[in-house]
Amino acid sequence: MILRWSEQLIPTLREVPAEAEIPSHQLLLRAGLIRKLGAGLYTFLPMGLRALRKVERIVREEMDRAGALEILMPALQPPEIWRQSGRYTAAAEVLFKVADRAGREWVLGPTHEEVVTALVAGEINSYRQLPRNFYQIQVKFRDEIRPRFGLMRAKEFIMKDAYSFDATDEAASESYRKMYDAYTRIFRRCGLRTLAVEADTGVMGGKFSHEFMVPAETGENEVAYTEAGDYAANLEKAVSRGPMTPTPAVSTGPAPESFATPGVLTIEDLAAAPYNVAAHRQIKTLVFMVESKPVLALVRGDDVLNEAKFAAACGSALFRPATPEECRAALGALPGSLGAVSVKGLPIYADLQLRSARGMVTGANEDGFHLRHVDVDRDLAVTGWHDLRTVKAGEAHVESGAPLFIRRAIEVGHVFKLGTKYSEAMNARFLDADGKQKPCVMGCYGIGVTRTLQAAIEQWGDEFGIRWPVSVAPVEVEVMAINAQHADSVARANEIAEALSAAQVEVLVDDRDERAGVKFKDADLVGAPIRVSVGERSLSKGQVEVKLRRTGATELVELGSAVERIRALLAEEWNAVTVS
Ligand code: ATP
Ligand code: MG
Repeated sequence: MILRWSEQLIPTLREVPAEAEIPSHQLLLRAGLIRKLGAGLYTFLPMGLRALRKVERIVREEMDRAGALEILMPALQPPEIWRQSGRYTAAAEVLFKVADRAGREWVLGPTHEEVVTALVAGEINSYRQLPRNFYQIQVKFRDEIRPRFGLMRAKEFIMKDAYSFDATDEAASESYRKMYDAYTRIFRRCGLRTLAVEADTGVMGGKFSHEFMVPAETGENEVAYTEAGDYAANLEKAVSRGPMTPTPAVSTGPAPESFATPGVLTIEDLAAAPYNVAAHRQIKTLVFMVESKPVLALVRGDDVLNEAKFAAACGSALFRPATPEECRAALGALPGSLGAVSVKGLPIYADLQLRSARGMVTGANEDGFHLRHVDVDRDLAVTGWHDLRTVKAGEAHVESGAPLFIRRAIEVGHVFKLGTKYSEAMNARFLDADGKQKPCVMGCYGIGVTRTLQAAIEQWGDEFGIRWPVSVAPVEVEVMAINAQHADSVARANEIAEALSAAQVEVLVDDRDERAGVKFKDADLVGAPIRVSVGERSLSKGQVEVKLRRTGATELVELGSAVERIRALLAEEWNAVTVS
């Protein structure tokens, strides 16, 4: 197959577009792969779509290989099924809602657990029909608070979502393992290095999950891991043996004692002179409105509350920080002087590091005052003890004691063991061999297809453009005559293109009458793994130049053996991304 630049739409840009914040987003625009319609909404141009289709094909092949069945579900969904699962409110934040001509409300699917479970409730009724795994590659809509970074966090994006249904928990684990393996292969085939990390289950509910992460400075996630690779977890979920400085348990007075702290608003203020209360001796009191009711979260002063862990502790993801007025209404003081001593009638969730702490300092619930000599077990009516803190780099891995490292990463895929949450809520039951009705045990598995494409660019971009892994490159080889006015160069370039095409190689011919510099720059930008340039000077010696985009290595090749050499180089590129 031969594409000619002059017949294409490849609007490359020299300048870095102001709207693009991260390298991969800049390259998507600069290489002419996508164009923005509005915030979080993009059109795929021909080259971008070619790359996207390749990612989709890899995903499809591996899903089929793992025995999943492809279906296609509607993006437009009745709200009733969302009410049935309980997510009409739980996922309300991201749900796009639209009205039809009669004023009836519909939902644009952010994911498809509800639809697929309703399908299975109707179609599967016997253990003989299990296991089944259904998948689709389809558009999703999410009302993201902050759509950004191009395809990374869009309002409309393409996801591969799969849903497994099993008769037993054990069988569900096997389905999970198959998807986990398929994901490993998929990302590898897309040329991506990924890390499978333990993940929070969040609003999906369910038992456990792994996220597939592409390490990248620009990632929106943080991952804690050991160097040996025996532990990797999303920071939302990561645990350690605890902070480097132990929590004090010093002997303390018979009761908390109030002292004036005028102007003290932060942990740092109190840690500074004249108070000198080290941050780890302070209790940080945070007030959240959880489903509109105030709830307290306590962590050590030097710790950062982990909101995902807090959500798990209080059993709701529907919360936000309380406003200063709400803090005053709940506790009688403004942020800066808040505490939980003697507080009654409000749920108090405390981090395990505070357990049995003595000699602590916390806000007195009176503006400009704090309490010292606080004995947590004696003075605080804690509702629930939980791990609520965010681990820090350098802390020890629970099992091995090895230090934890933290790095940023992009989440490209997510596998969940769901259990029976949806099948029970939506009545997806089957008749088991023992004659009993049982809910299907489910798993769900997502890949951000568009995000994966951008992650590949993030991982493989350089200052000049994209160094595509050949498996997802829009074209495999770009061929050009350096001087479009030189008939012989043009003729040879076309011959090479024809011969490559006849050998099933995807070729882009830059047939534009542009300066050589422009064409070279564009070739680097668009990033075909191999570039072949035919120039007067080398041609006079019977040679053409072949450049490997990934390494930048160039070589002069005899005209007669050019096609053979290019195919050999391509084969090497393919080997780098092929898993057997
Ligand atoms: P995130 O934490 O990044 O919002 P999520 O946990 O909401 O992701 P899932 O619901 O598990 O994501 O969706 C499956 C996959 O879909 C994710 O792993 C990610 O690759 C992709 N994805 C999710 N939200 C978006 C988005 N707004 N734009 C593009 N891709 C997305
Ligand atoms: Mg999300």
